[in-house]
Amino acid sequence: MKDMIEDHRVIAEPWYRPLADEVALFEAAYAARMPVMLKGPTGCGKTRFVEHMAWRLGKPLVTVACNEDMTASDLVGRFLLDASGTRWQDGPLAFAARHGAICYLDEIVEARQDTTVVIHPLTDGRRVLPLEKKGELLKAHPDFHLVISYNPGYQSLMKDLKQSTKQRFGALDFSWPEARVEVEIVAHEAGVETATAEKLVDIGARARNLKGHGLDEGVSTRMLVHAGQLIARGVAPIAACTMAITRPITDDMDMRDALDAAVATFF
Ligand code: ADP
Repeated sequence: MKDMIEDHRVIAEPWYRPLADEVALFEAAYAARMPVMLKGPTGCGKTRFVEHMAWRLGKPLVTVACNEDMTASDLVGRFLLDASGTRWQDGPLAFAARHGAICYLDEIVEARQDTTVVIHPLTDGRRVLPLEKKGELLKAHPDFHLVISYNPGYQSLMKDLKQSTKQRFGALDFSWPEARVEVEIVAHEAGVETATAEKLVDIGARARNLKGHGLDEGVSTRMLVHAGQLIARGVAPIAACTMAITRPITDDMDMRDALDAAVATFF
């Protein structure tokens, strides 16, 4: 990788509102170098949490958005051809392991299982990564730590983590924050008054009750923050909720009507 490890340092504190004892638990897991799995729906604060923890621990953060086309070489590295011949380029996992970063594999289930298994030797007592093509057994830097995120809602037989992968991690559950905490988050992140944040959080709670009755995923904290950001820029609240919440989350007309009605109750 061309980039320098210093580019991955988290300089300014990412604001994170703890939901329970996850900060202390993560610190203990880091001290033990126990790999951590963050479980929960999209948009509930997992990425922000890991950014905050990297800042708190003073470690660089290397993030990888996993997808099904990703190969083991995309994580580990490959030889590249350039003017001076072939040159090895570490993939993000090797880069993080070599330089002692926290490596965050976001939405790990999106990757194929033959890709996921490359993390195994890094997640047990060996803490090594074989760079087979290069003929190097990379010993992880003592500061290296692996974190993955995982949305159990998307779980299916085709897309699940192997037990042999899961059992290497300690897990923290993330879910929607309780209302008063979510109000704090929305008000802070969007820059809106508490009264507006309260209404957005109420709309979110109504919409989450529709999950399973036509909505696959609940309205996330991220969506409520988006609606608040539009309101903070002068957009009328109903238009803001339509753009940030009801239109992105569903194409089903009946469901849109139900969500529009929930919005109209509060604004
Ligand atoms: P995930 O990684 O779970 O998909 P993110 O961490 O990207 O979700 O969260 C989405 C947004 O929601 C963040 O950018 C932030 O504005 C807000 N957010 C959610 N939970 C929290 C929290 N506990 N503290 C601070 N911000 C939060």
